[in-house]
Amino acid sequence: MVPVPKPTKQIYDYLVIGGGSGGLASARRASGIHKANVALIEAQTRLGGTCVNVGCVPKKVMWNTALVAETLRQAPSYGFELQSQPTFNWSFLKGKRDAYIKRLNGIYERNLGNDNVEHLHGWASFVGPNTVRVQQSETESYEVEAKNILIATGSKPIIPNIPGAELGIDSDGFFDLEAQPKRVAVVGTGYIGIEIAGIFNALGTETTVFSRTKQILRSFDSIIKDNLLKEMESTGVKFAYESKVKSLSRSDSGILIEYESAGQASSLEVDCVLWAVGRSPNVEKLNLESANIETNEKGYVVVDEYQNTSTSNVLALGDACGNFELTPVAIAAGRRLSDRLFGGEQFKNAKLDYHNIPTVVFSHPTAGTIGLTEDEARAKYGDANVKTYSSKFVNMFFSMLDHKEPTAYKLVVTGPEEKVVGVHLFGRESDEILQGFGVAVRMGATKADFDNCVAIHPSAAEELVTMR
Ligand code: FAD
Ligand code: NDP
Repeated sequence: MVPVPKPTKQIYDYLVIGGGSGGLASARRASGIHKANVALIEAQTRLGGTCVNVGCVPKKVMWNTALVAETLRQAPSYGFELQSQPTFNWSFLKGKRDAYIKRLNGIYERNLGNDNVEHLHGWASFVGPNTVRVQQSETESYEVEAKNILIATGSKPIIPNIPGAELGIDSDGFFDLEAQPKRVAVVGTGYIGIEIAGIFNALGTETTVFSRTKQILRSFDSIIKDNLLKEMESTGVKFAYESKVKSLSRSDSGILIEYESAGQASSLEVDCVLWAVGRSPNVEKLNLESANIETNEKGYVVVDEYQNTSTSNVLALGDACGNFELTPVAIAAGRRLSDRLFGGEQFKNAKLDYHNIPTVVFSHPTAGTIGLTEDEARAKYGDANVKTYSSKFVNMFFSMLDHKEPTAYKLVVTGPEEKVVGVHLFGRESDEILQGFGVAVRMGATKADFDNCVAIHPSAAEELVTMR
């Protein structure tokens, strides 16, 4: 179903602003399952939001590409003779990746139609608590009314305010690159900086990461951030620690970065600078004041545990609220919200539980985490009530290889019953291993429950049920 030129109803039960992960999921649940009258407004010409277009999906394609590059390098150690040095064609891959995403955009469009959600195209802004203006072009707009309105407008990259910042790209720009840069600087060491730096490095780009501290992935457990940092260094990623980028300027053969590192002024020339210094909510165009919708000091929409904003019948979720900026979180919150709003008595208390949400960084190797870090657990329960089990080893896959990539796991347990309150995984396939252990943590498993599950041998995950 293509966007309709004008709304077909006087008033909708539910008007969703934003056709990304959370908005699509909530709109489809409300209309497809609960038969509410639903319209969804999306500003872009393609549906799917950040995840599908400039996030999880193209990122995972690039991560898979990097995995193939690594596998090709490892192949000779397993006895494969490669007849010639493999070369990588970035623009070929980009073309295939873009075509794949275009197919997904079409599927999302059709799914909306199948669930009878009316698709409106344009920029939405509030006129009042129940009325939204849709700006289709500079001169054309109309108003839509609804009993309930959802803000699911996501977030966008932050670009620092320094001279020449516009010479850099952000993660959206990464997916637009038509050719592989030879030398890249990545500023920021959160999810995006670390994932993209890992992809570049694995594909052979000379990669320097700028960290404003001495660490990476600051909020993660030490077993992840310390081991990953060492591994990235040992595979050739360079780091500028305690650094502050001062300016970017064009040089004869690239972009010159002037920066300070541990108090010393330095410079570096690269072909591409990628800003990965965080994201901010997409709310400027929404005219939130006209509906008295409260935001916090960073601009995120303030919601309670049921996704209610400060204005009744206006709801918000996903990246626009800044709480666990992950696609499955936005989807789960969106579906539960529609269940609560339109599902009747049995769903009247439906809401997403934001505790124990598993998450993975697609680094090299991957890292996965659920629950509390060791530091968080000690702060919450006290040192005397927290114990950790950890194991560091070389996955058997590397027994045939010269480079012995490490694997490191940690369980954080609390109380005499040793309830598992944190699982932290670093190593090959941690992304796939974590999901099942996430179920166990959600069910309140103890260390004894882990141990009572017979190990699968030979695997890396068996270490998690045999830790001493
Ligand atoms: P979005 O998906 O961003 O959707 C918001 C939509 O609202 C957009 O389509 C936008 O055009 C539209 N919009 C905004 N303002 C208006 C307006 N005024 N009117 C009309 N429409 C509007 N998460 C994971 O779980 N796993 C990953 O591997 C992962 N990788 C990522 C990699 C990158 C590079 C990035 C940037 C993010 C990644 N994420 C990942 C995070 C994930 O993409 C987001 O958490 C998720 O997309 C948020 O969903 P949302 O519905 O809140 O917003
Ligand atoms: P993050 O909040 O994860 O990281 C931001 C990084 O930028 C931090 O390292 C921070 O440093 C650094 N930083 C902030 N300001 C500056 C500055 N002025 N100069 C230098 N460095 C700076 O944000 P991301 O944009 O990486 O990711 C946003 C969210 O998207 C993530 O939190 C995650 O929820 C989601 N995401 C999820 C993925 C997944 O599930 N695999 C993948 C990608 C994104 P410091 O640590 O010192 O604060």
